[in-house]
Amino acid sequence: MKLLRPLSRALLIAALSCATTAAAAPTKVTLMPPDGARFLRGQRFDIRVEGQGQGPYAAELSIDGEARDFTSGENGTSTTDGISAAGWGGFNLRGASSDEPGVHTLTARFEDATGAVTVSSRIRIEDPFSGAKIGGRPTKNIIIMLGDGMGVAHRTAARLVKFGVTAGQPDGYLAMDQFPGTGLVTTHSLNSIITDSAPGMACYASGSHTANGQEGVNPAHVTNVFFAPRIEYMAEYLHRMKGTSLGLVSTADLEDATPAANAVHTGDRNHGTGIVDQYLDESDAEGSYAYGTGLSVLLGGGRRWFLPATEFGSSRSKSTDYPALPADLVAAWNLPDASGGALDPQRNLLADFQGKGFTYADSRTALLGALSGGAPEKLLGLFGYGNMNVALDKINARRGVKPAGSGTFVVDDYHAPDQPMLDEMAEAALQVLSRNRDGFVLMVEGAHIDKQSHLMDADRAIGETIEFDNAVGVARRWADKLGDTVVVVLADHECSGFSLIGALSAGGLEKLGSLPSDTATLSPGTAPGRQKSSVVGVYDEAGFPRYRILADGYPDTMDVAKKVLVGYGANGDRFEGWLSKPKPVIDSLLPGSFKAELKSNGYPAEPYDRPENQFGFFIRGQVPGSQAVHTASDIPISAYSTGNRASQLFTGVQTNTDVFFKLMRATLSGTEEGKGD
Ligand SMILES: [Zn+2]
Repeated sequence: MKLLRPLSRALLIAALSCATTAAAAPTKVTLMPPDGARFLRGQRFDIRVEGQGQGPYAAELSIDGEARDFTSGENGTSTTDGISAAGWGGFNLRGASSDEPGVHTLTARFEDATGAVTVSSRIRIEDPFSGAKIGGRPTKNIIIMLGDGMGVAHRTAARLVKFGVTAGQPDGYLAMDQFPGTGLVTTHSLNSIITDSAPGMACYASGSHTANGQEGVNPAHVTNVFFAPRIEYMAEYLHRMKGTSLGLVSTADLEDATPAANAVHTGDRNHGTGIVDQYLDESDAEGSYAYGTGLSVLLGGGRRWFLPATEFGSSRSKSTDYPALPADLVAAWNLPDASGGALDPQRNLLADFQGKGFTYADSRTALLGALSGGAPEKLLGLFGYGNMNVALDKINARRGVKPAGSGTFVVDDYHAPDQPMLDEMAEAALQVLSRNRDGFVLMVEGAHIDKQSHLMDADRAIGETIEFDNAVGVARRWADKLGDTVVVVLADHECSGFSLIGALSAGGLEKLGSLPSDTATLSPGTAPGRQKSSVVGVYDEAGFPRYRILADGYPDTMDVAKKVLVGYGANGDRFEGWLSKPKPVIDSLLPGSFKAELKSNGYPAEPYDRPENQFGFFIRGQVPGSQAVHTASDIPISAYSTGNRASQLFTGVQTNTDVFFKLMRATLSGTEEGKGD
């Protein structure tokens, strides 16, 4: 196995003690990448062996039996190298890669004062360049449409609400329904059957299973979460191979896991300041094609991370920032010194983005204005301080409909009165990205499908799925226009065990507001009353719900006579009143002061806090915490491609990491290697 750029530093000491005492030895000795990891030919990854024990530590590494040097880790001393956490010894070989397809064996011997342990892992190098035929030209542009938390039932619900059903026949299909390549995807992470959004996205973006809460890295005990061993992302690989650009679009705060797990390498998804800094610092703004993502479009919420710590609405802090990265990491990943990180809560990241050529839009009006004279070269849009608002709250503001009993619009209460819809953001992103003739990677996230499912707010989750599907329609039109484009619609995982249990029974809508609350009779020894469930029409009684869709594409009201009712298999405690909830539960990703302000304006802090507990019936959830959780269910994938038959690669059952390798096969099959490399 030939390792490209191994950066030998010859730190390995000449002889290691072979005395392994049977009684004691270092514990928790692990080698990363883990057994079974897969990489593309030439894809970069860090190798790390670590263990807990008593210094001095020493280690040696071989690949297919051939000794390799580490790029960091102090052999034979107990002094920290600034990378491994206290009590741990660690040794790294940064920026490894291989151009030899097939299985390779990594073996490491780790030693502390008490003994030695040998560990190994077998990794596979995949060759996308000479893969099976994809029935046409290589794909140039990749569009990943990620409905966060979107399971089969979310799609069914959006279709039912938007089109309805007559005599068993759907009266229309969603844009994503009409993609020809549909299959199932398993969603497990490196350390659990239940993933969170960080590895959920990183699997598609890197081809590696990573651990919950982590983005583009393997797990490690290091002094800073940004020092963990890296795995190269699709955007980075294609940027240096082919000169592609990256676009990230989300209705979430842009620090959130799904957008970050395409471009940022961190062992903790909650380090917002460092995460958002790294978007710019590793964007390769100067166009060297030696490193970085080629980030050219960044649209969503999260303005709080771009403002200096002392400004209104800022959330920047030292504790969530990233410090100077280890020298061997900077060198092996070809990062310029300026990209190496700094603790700078007072950084004006907004100004820095603009200084690197990004046009900035802070509202829908500004976004349309930025495109009016032709698409800019790079585009930054921050339409909220934290998460953007959900589709139904944005639409209600456009329609001039305030929540019942409120004098202000939800979007005003969130300090973001003029926000674009996801399809408008996708359209803007594609106008900018399509300027790059070398192609692009675009990820568009419908974030609140997940967030509103956690909160068990079915109406908002369904509205969000409709908004997401409108963005899917935009992606398809651009795929047709540009050619040589693949669009995949999928989710990182299912959320809440969302299921369609029936529809309001006859007369149920009228009955609802007048039924007494369970709260008076509720006690641990008493089963909740059953009166509210009498309005749930099951089987024949569900019939065929019908909603009226207005010209803006959304229902005039979600509270129709035969309203679709949603249950949650992974639910937390809640009072269920079935009717639309006037105000959303306060988003977790917001500046702290905003949350306090929303609370004082009558916004519920938790699902069980909603005002409908005045009449709703209590449903005790079976999961810990106050919200519904992710499930291990497979998620559907739907694919569309122009210029080749890549869409057919995604039929059948596949793992989440397979999706990465299939996308790369579509993109690289039959092409030559190398742009900047
Ligand atoms: Zn979630």
